[in-house]
Amino acid sequence: MITLVDTTLRDGEQAPGVAFSIDEKMEIAKVLSDIGIKEIEAGTSVMGGEEAEAVKAVVGLGLPVKIFTWNRIVEKDIEASLLCGVKNLYISCPVSDIQIQNKLRKTRNWVKERFTKIIPALKKDGCYAACGLEDASRADVSFVLEVCRLLEELQADRIRICDTVGILTPFKAFELIAYLKGYIKIPLEIHTHNDFGLAAANALAGIKGGAGYASVTVNGMGERAGNAALEELVMALEKLEGIKTGINTKMLKKLSALVSVFSGRPVATDKPIVGDMAFSHESGIHVNGVLKHPPNYEPYPPEEVGAKREIILGKHSGKSYSVLNTLKLSAKTRRIAAACGIFA
Ligand code: MN
Repeated sequence: MITLVDTTLRDGEQAPGVAFSIDEKMEIAKVLSDIGIKEIEAGTSVMGGEEAEAVKAVVGLGLPVKIFTWNRIVEKDIEASLLCGVKNLYISCPVSDIQIQNKLRKTRNWVKERFTKIIPALKKDGCYAACGLEDASRADVSFVLEVCRLLEELQADRIRICDTVGILTPFKAFELIAYLKGYIKIPLEIHTHNDFGLAAANALAGIKGGAGYASVTVNGMGERAGNAALEELVMALEKLEGIKTGINTKMLKKLSALVSVFSGRPVATDKPIVGDMAFSHESGIHVNGVLKHPPNYEPYPPEEVGAKREIILGKHSGKSYSVLNTLKLSAKTRRIAAACGIFA
């Protein structure tokens, strides 16, 4: 069993140009809960205004879900989250020299000092402290381990290993998580981005390497090319690795459509799992095969994700009467097909 942390409302909303209303955030949170998600990162309280109101509103739903917020490693952010009624906090701090030096203009020691100050105080307040190691994939791995060991000592609850700019490969993701797991017991979360189209594959590899948690967003929404897509990771885990996610996969298509409408971002027709043509067949050989026995050309039945199989007539349909005659085609479609020489 793996726990998926849905961050559509936080990292997903950081997709350029996307802003959910409070009602939309509440609706997405409800459907995420219905589908079986147990942890939601709902926003960044310190932004204030509508963002903080949305976090409060999601908390107020009383869903059977752990609600998290994202925080920098500063007191102001933590106070804002506590004011929103949130006790589960991601405390994020860069661990790569690139970001420590060029973004924070601090040192590795400063990072350790901040965690040492913040985490015990959070634990004292009865909070769940999840520590996000930003840009961990570009960091010196010995420093990542040093910080992980420190966090374990400080009794942090979880460490999120972030591939912030999406440069891991499945091989490297597996190695990194397996390496860290060799030294520490604290639960790890793999947080991946899709800059090279590998976010879901990298999350899968991190899970195989020993991560018990993975961050996902619906439709893979997020900064730049986005995050690991919830629907892709769920189906890959369940179907390809036999790892349970607790997700009702039959609702995936509906959830995808909801977030697509709310975000104003259309889903590509050929997007895996949730694209409108992800289960469409045109070429004659495939149509013939799939009609005889669907597993011939489908990895799993489309109904499992709430989708439908479609047979498309087109250039590659061929002239297989036996196939085409099995289709329920309207008289008009038959006339057009005949006019195109597809069948008589
Ligand atoms: Mn991220």
